[in-house]
Amino acid sequence: MSNPNFGVWRPMAENVEFNALDSNSNAVMAVADTVRTTLGPKGLDKLLIDQAMNRHISNDGVTILLSLRAIHPVARMIVEIAERQEQLVGDGTTTAVVMSAEMIKEGKKLVRELGVHPTKVVEGIESGVKHACSLLEAETKIIKLNDNMLEQVVRTSLSSKLDGKHLSSLVISALHTVGNNAMFNGSYNFDKSILVIRKTNMDDKVVNGIVLERTRLDPEMPLEIKEPKIMIMKMNMKPVKDAWLKENSKYQDILTMENDRLSKAKQIVDSIIATGANALLIASPEVDQVVEDLLVAKRLFAVRISTEEIEYLSRYTGAKPVRMLEDLSNQDILGSSSRIYENEQNQVIYVENGSHQNIVTVIISGSTKETSQERWRAVIDGINAAEAALNNGVVAGGGSAELHIIEKVKKLRLKGLEQVGLDVVMAALESIMRQILTNAGFNGLEKVMAARSSPEGFGIDINTGEPVDMWKMGVIDPLLVKTMALKAAAEIAKSVLRIDRNLAAEDLSPQALSESKR
Ligand code: ADP
Ligand code: MG
Repeated sequence: MSNPNFGVWRPMAENVEFNALDSNSNAVMAVADTVRTTLGPKGLDKLLIDQAMNRHISNDGVTILLSLRAIHPVARMIVEIAERQEQLVGDGTTTAVVMSAEMIKEGKKLVRELGVHPTKVVEGIESGVKHACSLLEAETKIIKLNDNMLEQVVRTSLSSKLDGKHLSSLVISALHTVGNNAMFNGSYNFDKSILVIRKTNMDDKVVNGIVLERTRLDPEMPLEIKEPKIMIMKMNMKPVKDAWLKENSKYQDILTMENDRLSKAKQIVDSIIATGANALLIASPEVDQVVEDLLVAKRLFAVRISTEEIEYLSRYTGAKPVRMLEDLSNQDILGSSSRIYENEQNQVIYVENGSHQNIVTVIISGSTKETSQERWRAVIDGINAAEAALNNGVVAGGGSAELHIIEKVKKLRLKGLEQVGLDVVMAALESIMRQILTNAGFNGLEKVMAARSSPEGFGIDINTGEPVDMWKMGVIDPLLVKTMALKAAAEIAKSVLRIDRNLAAEDLSPQALSESKR
């Protein structure tokens, strides 16, 4: 059925590839076949091998797709859409790919066997997907931060990952630690409030604070300050440029300049100390050696930070960035936390319990770069699933929500031939449960039939094969992951079905296109 050689794509001799629908749908099937067996908790792993014979074992749809060396243009299109799904909702990529393959398979039948015009099929898909999304919305339950269901969403989302149980506990602990402080304008935003960093030399843990992968400005500074008064420095801390000193060769001039440098440096450090600050987060481009020495002498804690780090350190500690000397006399420029300290061994700095308590950090270990990358991605998936669940609610998982709306989608009445496009959507809605169960070693179709005749919310227990209530089992998915996956699948299917020729073209780079417009 699928073309194993999808990676090699060449337009034919006359620069025209006939039968584009066959070629393109084969490419989709081939991509889908590589990831479909990973779907669900019983999904299998893939061994990825690159040209240098580096190996990596993965169970993650996106990781696999991104590492495929697929050059068929349609295969690349799927990879891009999958990547976008990952960016938008951060989960449900395999689901989207499996559904798109199903839509294309069904759509192709309609076009080829029944002679339905592709535009009719496409219009049917559009209406069907829209309707399916609103039906799923109607099934949605709203959840809160302390609901048990939040934990279940995270566990469901990570159930297919290596080490998923342990990673979900980390995610849940992070969610509870940051709590409602992760709300911005009425909705949860964990992008802003849960930082996830990879550290191969450290153990997994959740830190109630910010972890900077940095060391103190000077090793003679104190290692730790309790109840620090934190200042964020953006101001230039180099009063006299080195170049000036070098260029000026007259001894007297140098002396004047050195004295000037010393007194300006003193002025800066004295004004900092006058504010009561004892921990400096320095984002200034340069720090004069004299300033540094004075800070060491006064036993201040200081660490360099990047300008990107200013925003969240300021939001977390309440410190307002200081841009010039005059700012130092402003009120409320200092932030606070319960402790700031460096772990010398791991070369990280902790800012714990900032006054606003709106950020936590999850540290993810991993013996190799690839494992830590995959564990990191899994944790991000879990966090994204939690965010989507809290903001938009949840539906029954395991493909159950999709399966039980099929009958209702069927009842939708569209004009003329568009009606047949609904079959495409219904096939896709059924494919998720079927695939999850096939991957669990059952006859997928047979089990799907059994689930279909059970009440709403029911699916199949992947261990026993018996119908069970997915809500009771705690297998639940965020609505958003489902609707976005459905839309992404439809997008792929629509583009593939609409194409009747693949043509080899001259330069299609954006630059060439904009020139030809002129
Ligand atoms: P994706 O890349 O699409 O997120 P996953 O491999 O993460 O793919 O699988 C997600 C699917 O697995 C969801 O539909 C989810 O409901 C389902 N799932 C997770 N745990 C179970 C379970 N215990 N029983 C049945 N289905 C499950
Ligand atoms: Mg997933």
